[in-house]
Amino acid sequence: MPAGPANKVNLIGLDRSGLERFFADLGEKPFRARQILQWIHQRQVTEFDRMTDLSRKLREQLDEVAEITPPRVIREQVSDDGTVKWLLGVEGGSAVETVFIPETSRGTLCISSQVGCMLNCTFCSTATQGFKRNLGSAEIAGQVWHAVNALADARLGGRRVTNVVYMGMGEPLLNLDAVRASLSLLRDDLAYGLASRRVTISTAGVVPGIDQLADGDEFALAVSLHAPDDELRSRLVPLNRKYPLSELMAACKRYVRMRSRRSITFEYTMIDGVNDGPAQAKGLVRLLNGLPCKINLIPFNPFPGTPFRPSSDEAIYEFQKITRAAGIITTVRKTRGEDIDAACGQLVGKLLSPSQRRMVVQQQLARQAVNA
Ligand code: SAH
Repeated sequence: MPAGPANKVNLIGLDRSGLERFFADLGEKPFRARQILQWIHQRQVTEFDRMTDLSRKLREQLDEVAEITPPRVIREQVSDDGTVKWLLGVEGGSAVETVFIPETSRGTLCISSQVGCMLNCTFCSTATQGFKRNLGSAEIAGQVWHAVNALADARLGGRRVTNVVYMGMGEPLLNLDAVRASLSLLRDDLAYGLASRRVTISTAGVVPGIDQLADGDEFALAVSLHAPDDELRSRLVPLNRKYPLSELMAACKRYVRMRSRRSITFEYTMIDGVNDGPAQAKGLVRLLNGLPCKINLIPFNPFPGTPFRPSSDEAIYEFQKITRAAGIITTVRKTRGEDIDAACGQLVGKLLSPSQRRMVVQQQLARQAVNA
């Protein structure tokens, strides 16, 4: 069979060790990995022909076996507050969302790790679309590549990505291999060079994943808690039935012990009348007792069809007063990009135009026909 594009390795998703293996297979020296990392992620060059420090022979060889393909942009939306959301097409006719949130002194990129999500948190709109598949490392790192590339443009204000959070669609700790390769690219000085405290993995509480990733990789951990007791948490985050609070807290303690200076951020979505009362705030203080941590309260972001409503400002203030009085740094997340559905829990990878939807359906039918 002739080598079609589908057989080519997409180098955008290989970290330094992956590239070293790739070049070893071609009979090349490991330092090629360092050269190509800079071409791809720092100079943002996607054509091998422009990589002038590689020999012509190697460039031709690379053209045959590899490619540097960033994700395809289906749609870009810019919010009134400067937040940018991209809908990026991934193979198989699906799409994922990537959001850039500009702030005065930093620029945070929120990336997706899966197409859809299998955890079914009852207050999250991504859950309504079900789970399709894991993203590959090229699709995760590709989101960062694309954002850095697009943001360099004067049209978007020439902004820089200073922080990356794995808080888009999906559960990063259920896609460990690809997440790990992308993490390593984010941290590599020859790629994005971000300090570990600037890269945050957010998890709904996949205990084995916390242990596996904590054992070696450098990143900040955020845990989506949302309730101080098992009964309520299991209703909001069904994964809690598998990994109840006692096990989750034990894993958090192991993480903190392994990364001595680190504290954990606990995310707590404030849902009116469900988890936002003073009793829950006190329960949370008891649960987190002795653990170096911060609490980030997220006002619930509504989406079509949800029975939940956001907590009132007063309820959020009262809740914050209780956790602060107990000495826990507690911040309230400012909702950004609401006008473009880019806020937490609003990412659904919507394909927006009817013609795009038709195209996807046709592609899916064609795939089914091939697989049948
Ligand atoms: N699966 C990971 C990362 C994705 S969700 C996790 O669970 O942490 C990122 C954050 O947004 C999580 O804390 C999630 O619970 C929260 N979230 C989901 N839906 C939300 C909504 N409708 N309003 C506010 N926050 C929401």
